[in-house]
Amino acid sequence: MRNVKRKKIAIVGAGFCGLAASWFFAEREEFAVDLYDPSGIGGGASGIAAGLLHPYAGAHNKLNPFALEGIAATKELLSVAERALGKQIAHFSGVLRLATDEAQLSDYQKASAKYPDIMWRTAAENQKAVEGLYPHPGIFIENAAVVDSQLYLEGLFKACTKRGLTLIKEPIADLNRLDTYDSILITAGAGTCRIKGLENLPSSLIKGQVIIGNWPEQHTPLPFPLNSYAYLLMQPDRPHQFCAGATFERTLSDAIPDLPTAIQDILPKVQTFFPSLTEKNIIGCKAGVRVSTPNHLPLIHRHNRNCWVLTGMGSKGLLYNALYAKKVVQDMLRNQEI
Ligand SMILES: Cc1cc2nc3c(=O)[nH]c(=O)nc-3n(C[C@H](O)[C@H](O)[C@H](O)COP(=O)(O)OP(=O)(O)OC[C@H]3O[C@@H](n4cnc5c(N)ncnc54)[C@H](O)[C@@H]3O)c2cc1C
Repeated sequence: MRNVKRKKIAIVGAGFCGLAASWFFAEREEFAVDLYDPSGIGGGASGIAAGLLHPYAGAHNKLNPFALEGIAATKELLSVAERALGKQIAHFSGVLRLATDEAQLSDYQKASAKYPDIMWRTAAENQKAVEGLYPHPGIFIENAAVVDSQLYLEGLFKACTKRGLTLIKEPIADLNRLDTYDSILITAGAGTCRIKGLENLPSSLIKGQVIIGNWPEQHTPLPFPLNSYAYLLMQPDRPHQFCAGATFERTLSDAIPDLPTAIQDILPKVQTFFPSLTEKNIIGCKAGVRVSTPNHLPLIHRHNRNCWVLTGMGSKGLLYNALYAKKVVQDMLRNQEI
């Protein structure tokens, strides 16, 4: 934009939320965006997310609030990232949820009767569709994808960089450091509560881990993810490796991988529906920290005149990042005369 002074925006944290918000500013010529993150892109939970995206996350398979809007918004940003990289990032292959006990049977039967994109599948149908599966009945959710989280981050970053975004590899501990900016957005995930003045937001931290392993040679790779009390999917970037998760460790808020704990928690749950996976297949684990809010929905908080916070994605960062990043950017534009 010639001869017009661009407004300076600082975004703190380069995960799904920070990059989604960066895009919504960067696509408008009147803003110059600086993105702060000491780890570069994907240094937090987004960098290790398994990549599941569907509108029925949670034990009871209920439609999540704003889920259809969330998927639609994420699809738009997936297209932005795919165009930037020139390759496919998400595969809408569906997800099979297996009923391994009476409670799941009841929840899933209700879900298949209520929602048009959920089909009931008998145990025999499931066993035919997935080699190596224990014969449980369940539901097939059509509107579900596996996203390559790393590529999503890289694609959004590339698209934003083309529009002039600058990545600054510095941590922000004190908002005063950013007082030359017209507007500030904090999307620092689990790091948000360590920034001065943001210690008391209504949120809690939950460590999560996934295990990674080599797919057993005797079986063909899964055609779509499986989900019950744990999930199991092929790694989008390594088709002969699987990822299974996840732990919910409420007493810990570090992101240090702890393989024995991850195996002990996840493997028995996976074996209830895929018995041939054993400890011998496992090659490692990844850990991250989720931010959860009391109502399990993302939190948009106006900290002061020119500083906003977007956090609380919980386990649904892929479902909500684009929708809420768009919302917070719209709020910032509306309320601030920036
Ligand atoms: C094991 C596991 C598996 C998951 N799987 C899925 C899944 O399959 N599907 C799904 O939808 N969700 C999944 N999630 C949840 C998802 O990862 C999160 O909801 C999402 O990544 C949160 O995004 P965010 O941008 O808010 O935070 P983050 O991705 O954590 O990003 C925050 C960024 O801020 C940076 N930062 C922190 N402090 C500072 C500071 N002071 N200054 C500058 N930068 C800072 C960090 O380096 C980081 O890059 C999973 C989470 C875990 C832990």
